[in-house]
Amino acid sequence: MISEQDARERILTHVHPLPPRQVTLNEALDCFAAEELNAPLALPPFDNSAMDGYAVVSSSCAAGTRLRVSGEQPAGVDRRLTVGPSEAVRIFTGAALPIGADAVVMQEEVTVDESAIILQCDVAAGEFVRRRGGDIAQGQRMLAQGKQVTPQLIALLAAQGIGSLTVGGKVRAALISTGDELVAPGVALQAGQIHDANSALLRALLQKSGVDVVSVTHCADRADEIEKAVRAGTTCDVLIITGGVSVGARDFVKEAIATAGGVLDLWRVAVKPGKPFLFGRAGSCAIFGLPGNPVSAFVTFLLFVRPALLQMMGARDAALRLPTTAARLGTAVQNDGDRPHYLRGALEDGVFRPIGRQESHALFGLSRSDALFLVPPGETLAPGVMIDIFTWD
Ligand code: AMP
Ligand code: MG
Repeated sequence: MISEQDARERILTHVHPLPPRQVTLNEALDCFAAEELNAPLALPPFDNSAMDGYAVVSSSCAAGTRLRVSGEQPAGVDRRLTVGPSEAVRIFTGAALPIGADAVVMQEEVTVDESAIILQCDVAAGEFVRRRGGDIAQGQRMLAQGKQVTPQLIALLAAQGIGSLTVGGKVRAALISTGDELVAPGVALQAGQIHDANSALLRALLQKSGVDVVSVTHCADRADEIEKAVRAGTTCDVLIITGGVSVGARDFVKEAIATAGGVLDLWRVAVKPGKPFLFGRAGSCAIFGLPGNPVSAFVTFLLFVRPALLQMMGARDAALRLPTTAARLGTAVQNDGDRPHYLRGALEDGVFRPIGRQESHALFGLSRSDALFLVPPGETLAPGVMIDIFTWD
């Protein structure tokens, strides 16, 4: 059996970033940048007003000063007005600062007297002026390669006039669930049958990761049927198979991968839940065999499939790891086993508590979980200690 870290490292040496592609800004959310970007524009692009008010020359202003209003500067067009020492120009938020002005007085701070204003306050140079380049200078680095595109970043790129960018490739994935006992949700159960939960679970996880789910196939526990599905699935970048990866006489996945021309890189990882996990390849397709128990499928997806997908999509280094958060442990926990145990639980008001039965078939607890806590083998922890927990997107 191989350790969790070794398994992940080995997987990551076998998967590679897909060829980058150009996307419009509208399609870029959550993608990983495949290029560095420097600001083509200074922002703001020109000196402008931060308030509705009056543009003035600050050195000739004090509380009580009377200024003649010599013009009006709206936003959207630069009238190239000039303002002199005893003058003020009516100005609006975002409007270009008139020539000679070095401050804006808020309209709330003046009294209007026909075509003049009387200042109610002193004025400092630079007040309520947004200087050209004060936010970001022309040529300044905006985006590093491998960085994930957020709505906030999209706003900056849009403000820079950037309509498209180069991001990591889109991953195409095929899903196979195996098991004679499985029927699709919506189909009535016969005695001995259960509904296929993993296809829905993994499809959702893949969708959340920004992956194109190309096909979802169910196979009976028959080597030939699974082999056929594996052959079709390995035309994708990623093939995920659940169930049938263990040691049972009816676990045909390893055999099917081999007869379909694939190789097995690793099988069985020292982690609970998820021991029977396997990883292999066929051509350029990465094959993940996840245990059939849904909680094991969920945990092994997060530990092994997620980082591989992220690397394929152009993410790097720390972005491949699950996010961690500090929390206080709400209850005593103990790991009597010989494998690291990922407890499923919930984080509430900074306190992590395991939820539901910590068994690999138990979906109710998992459905209410939003964090994982890793308890090393032989470890006992008392309530109240500070721990690091893992979350996911
Ligand atoms: P296996 O890994 O095929 O030995 O399956 C282990 C356990 O997970 C068995 O109880 C299966 O019935 C169950 N199982 C396998 N596949 C699924 C699935 N797609 N959805 C829900 N449970 C499953
Ligand atoms: Mg099975």
